[in-house]
Amino acid sequence: MSKPLVVITGASSGIGAAIAQHMSDAGHPLLLLARRQEKLEAMKLPNTLCRQVDVTDNGALTKAIREAEALYGPVDCLVNNAGKMLLGSIETQNTEEWREMFDVNVLALMNSMQAVLADMKSRGCGTILNISSIAGVKTFINHAAYCGTKYAVSAISETVREEVAASGVRIMALCPGAVETELLSHTTSEEIIKAYEEWKASIGGAINAEDIARTALFMYSQPQHVNIREVQIAATGQD
Ligand code: NDP
Repeated sequence: MSKPLVVITGASSGIGAAIAQHMSDAGHPLLLLARRQEKLEAMKLPNTLCRQVDVTDNGALTKAIREAEALYGPVDCLVNNAGKMLLGSIETQNTEEWREMFDVNVLALMNSMQAVLADMKSRGCGTILNISSIAGVKTFINHAAYCGTKYAVSAISETVREEVAASGVRIMALCPGAVETELLSHTTSEEIIKAYEEWKASIGGAINAEDIARTALFMYSQPQHVNIREVQIAATGQD
């Protein structure tokens, strides 16, 4: 029997790309979204629709989802992974960076949940896997806005989980610690990047995107009546 459709936002690098590979290897048709479409296409995954979508553009996001559903059937799993981490001090950080993080990490995630939930509820099944963070359960200096967005993702995930539990739809939050990806490179302060790299070295290094993808697939592939609500996963040495 053919496997159902999985949608992954921010699949052009890091954790999203690794989850895409694992879901594809498990036989799922995919809709992959990101701004760098060429990186999505370069993965050359079978039964995969790649669309250049900025997730803050709700119309484009919903259009791509409807297009994929017409090809592959209803969305069975939405992985809300697209994210920005722009670290900075509350006193000096450009406020546009706060806005961008809240737009991408929080509001776009809520919009995409809204785009699939009604159909999932009417079918009585489906899974939304939100990528939160250890920064969504624990604070770190220079992470005020980023932690704010990830605490929001964890709170939103748990709230919606309660709202839709009786319908059979699962909402999950996956909270990684430091993972070796492009994420840190978007921070503009060289000093903060250096301090982050030193912290990473002091804990014995980060885990990799494969570790997160394996965990995401494990969470999703449980029987529909089992909901792994939240997982925290980090390097053993991380404090
Ligand atoms: P990357 O920077 O490697 O990946 C981020 C992804 O998000 C890219 O595919 C990027 O695609 C996409 N993205 C960013 N902004 C937008 C946008 N406006 N529209 C569409 N796509 C967008 O980082 P990670 O793989 O590490 O991050 C993935 C998720 O994991 C994020 O939510 C992050 O917060 C979370 N996380 C990461 C941790 C880490 O240490 N790496 C730890 C805990 C959580 P493109 O630029 O092509 O649009």
